Amino acid sequence: MIPFLSLKEVTKLHGEEIEEAVTRVVKSGWYLQGEENAMFEENYARFIGTDYAIGCGNGLDALIWIFRAYIELGVMKPGDEVIVPANTYIATILALTDNGLVPVLCEPKPDTLEIDDELIEGLVTSRTRAIVIVHLYGRNAYTDRIGQLCNKYNLKLVEDNAQAHGCRHFDGRMTGSIGDAAGHSFYPGKNLGALGDGGAVTTNDSNLATTIRALANYGSQRKYFCMYQGRNSRLDEIQAAVLSVKLKYLTEDNSHRQLIADYYYKHIHNPLIDLPVRLPDAQNVYHLFPILVNGGRRDSLHEYLDDNGIGTVIHYPIPPHKQACYRGLNCKSFPVTEHISSCELSLPIGPCLSLDDAAEVVSRINAFS
Ligand SMILES: *Cc1c(COP(=O)(O)O)cnc(C)c1O
Repeated sequence: MIPFLSLKEVTKLHGEEIEEAVTRVVKSGWYLQGEENAMFEENYARFIGTDYAIGCGNGLDALIWIFRAYIELGVMKPGDEVIVPANTYIATILALTDNGLVPVLCEPKPDTLEIDDELIEGLVTSRTRAIVIVHLYGRNAYTDRIGQLCNKYNLKLVEDNAQAHGCRHFDGRMTGSIGDAAGHSFYPGKNLGALGDGGAVTTNDSNLATTIRALANYGSQRKYFCMYQGRNSRLDEIQAAVLSVKLKYLTEDNSHRQLIADYYYKHIHNPLIDLPVRLPDAQNVYHLFPILVNGGRRDSLHEYLDDNGIGTVIHYPIPPHKQACYRGLNCKSFPVTEHISSCELSLPIGPCLSLDDAAEVVSRINAFS
């Protein structure tokens, strides 16, 4: 049996240190807004390469707070447009509509699966205020052309870095430090995962950081004085302590993912299967390993691998514009995105998957016809 991802194994990998950290917090008697948060925020900001990291409840909230803060600061207002990839997890879109912003969906490139930077300019209007890029599947989606467009039209660049902790642009900057602000998720299955929910915003903008810190804590900068109608969205001390442990090993864990990915790239040979192209300027920390299955055979490959004890997952079976919650978008057509959702399948990958397991996955896949 080769599970898609065994969180039990992932936790066991650094298990002793994690248990020590949890015990330290349990015994301390201090569970929110304490030293563990301060320490993790400092460590994470240094790791990503930004002046600020602000812990919050989860990755969706991190993205919501970025846009909410821009609205509170008068940079954006409800009704403004934000360009966002059509091929993404629903949370990216929810963060916009939750703030009354209008998502303007942009198709991905069919061979990289990331936002197509050649289509963005055609979507810019006088109401556009920002571009969101999502480093989907762990792959850097930033291109210099995107940066140039932000400068040309005076747009904020927001990164959804939920799937790409530790990934770099070819110039050395880490994803999460390239745009004006970035949302990060520490959902357990992510490359940097907590033992529950968690998230963070990174930015170099001190006004934005201060506003977000308040928004995520009842809208309050000083206890019992509320500047904004905020919410309670905090990273708890146990999660912060766990994340500080796991952050130390993130680069090593990502290298292992890259090793598995290299193996898949080298050995998967099946005319029914295409792999996303690898480009020198697009580093990848392989949160997921997506393959594209031709000939309408995705679901049968999924079933065949399942019958052979190999877990795979579709990312994502229904694109955001086809979701029931976005009825107004259902009639729109994004053929590349729809194609990806109909033929994508994610193979097992993670810090604990052995090369033997990868070899087993490859031999089953190559035998599929
Ligand atoms: C996981 C994820 C999120 C949301 O993170 P949560 O912590 O689950 O709220 C946002 N965007 C993308 C691309 C994600 O993969």
